[in-house]
Amino acid sequence: MTDALLEVNNLVKHFPITEGLIVSKEVGAVKAVDGVSFHIKRGETLGLVGESGCGKSTTGRLILRLIEPTSGEIHFEGKDVLGLNREDMRELRKDMQIIFQDPYASLNPRMTVAGIVGEPMEVHEIARGKEKEARVQEILEVVGLSPYHAKRYPHEFSGGQRQRIGVARALAVNPKLIICDEPVSALDVSIQAQVINLLQELQEDFGLTYLFIAHDLSVVKHISDRVAVMYLGKIVELAGKHELYDNPKHPYTEALLSAVPIPDPTKRRQRIILEGDVPSPIHPPSGCRFHTRCRYAREICEHEDPVFRDTGDGHFVACHLQGAA
Ligand code: SF4
Repeated sequence: MTDALLEVNNLVKHFPITEGLIVSKEVGAVKAVDGVSFHIKRGETLGLVGESGCGKSTTGRLILRLIEPTSGEIHFEGKDVLGLNREDMRELRKDMQIIFQDPYASLNPRMTVAGIVGEPMEVHEIARGKEKEARVQEILEVVGLSPYHAKRYPHEFSGGQRQRIGVARALAVNPKLIICDEPVSALDVSIQAQVINLLQELQEDFGLTYLFIAHDLSVVKHISDRVAVMYLGKIVELAGKHELYDNPKHPYTEALLSAVPIPDPTKRRQRIILEGDVPSPIHPPSGCRFHTRCRYAREICEHEDPVFRDTGDGHFVACHLQGAA
């Protein structure tokens, strides 16, 4: 066991596909998450990146058991999360919170901000009455809103402010881990930076740990300590932030990075355009799942699934072109 706050081992989620109206029969499965392993240390931010449909958001929901995994292991502070009963799981949700991509859809339009932020405090028996009200006001200030906002409804706020309400709701129960599920994807670029800066400040002030999910490597660069890249249900590369951005070893990461603008106008990257669509997770390609789009693919790639291994200093890659440490 490592000093990890969260450990995920060989996590799998296959959504069954059924046919037949009267007697339903399983005819296949969407392999949304297919053997994902990683850990996150206390106070660390792990970025989890990949194109839409790669399984990154499903991974976040599996960790919280908002959906049940098909198989695998999840340990939080050494506790076997998948072995917990309903009551113990409810208790654990105090420590593990989530911020959703679309703040508007995730906030109840009929509740005031005070109701939205105060509700989890009541559910988890953290505060009631006047104490709860005072705590709500305090949290609103912490996330950059004003105490008078407590009486307003979600539709009265801008997208960035609504995401701050989402952050306040997550903070209400003093969590240790927050799964940030594309928290800035629906926001304007100028607002994205504000929300990311807020999350960083909160991390320092409250010692939070984040799993930060995004579809774009440029978004996670600022906030992450390490970054994992997912493709079709599997992690294909995982490394420290600087190592991954300066020395990508997986051809998919290389292609994703080629789309990230460089702030220096005198430098240019050659853009690598990935050919073809992302294959279906119902019938993922044999061998290396990336072989149908990889410009370095060779025969072995079609038949053998590359092992996800440490190529040195915790830089993990699943590619036949990379040797072990
Ligand atoms: Fe490309 Fe082969 Fe490496 Fe897969 S294993 S990324 S197909 S070179």
